[in-house]
Amino acid sequence: MTLISVLQERSGSQCELCKSTNQPGVYAVPPNPTETPDTAILVCATCLDQIEHPERMDANHWRCLNDSMWSQEAPVQVMAWRLLHRLIAEGWPKDLLDMLYLDDDTLAWAQATGDHVSNDDKVIHRDSNGVVLSAGDTVTLIKDLTVKGANFTAKRGTAVRGISLVADNAEHIEGRVNGQQIVILTQFVKKS
Ligand SMILES: [Zn+2]
Repeated sequence: MTLISVLQERSGSQCELCKSTNQPGVYAVPPNPTETPDTAILVCATCLDQIEHPERMDANHWRCLNDSMWSQEAPVQVMAWRLLHRLIAEGWPKDLLDMLYLDDDTLAWAQATGDHVSNDDKVIHRDSNGVVLSAGDTVTLIKDLTVKGANFTAKRGTAVRGISLVADNAEHIEGRVNGQQIVILTQFVKKS
């Protein structure tokens, strides 16, 4: 069975967020290296457009989350959580979020795209897979890095513990390698 037919069977060929039957298609919930029924949902064009363009969010459309957030499917829960967070300033999404319980793994997944971070501090550091990095995280280097001004190469696979984030630059983090504090580009790391 193809992925879309599995999802159609699961959802009754309805958008898993708003129940529209207007030709819903597969949406792979990021960050997702593989597309499986556990990481993808069926969504209609209206939902997809607003998922991909946060500036076009229509709060009234998302009243549908009142129902769909209770889905048993983790990828649906994750999208409901992210979309409610985007709309949290409306008030009612906050009430729904207070009732929406996600287990630890699902919550970590939901937080991975930073939709819950307020617009006031939108310098979001992401690793090479798009996963949001926080101060104190451990990351792994995904390639050999020549450290400028120091006489060594930080080897691919090196774990850097307790990173700090460069506040005004989403592409830079700092961490200690070979006993030296160095600046590392986020595109060359993977969260451990
Ligand atoms: Zn929809």
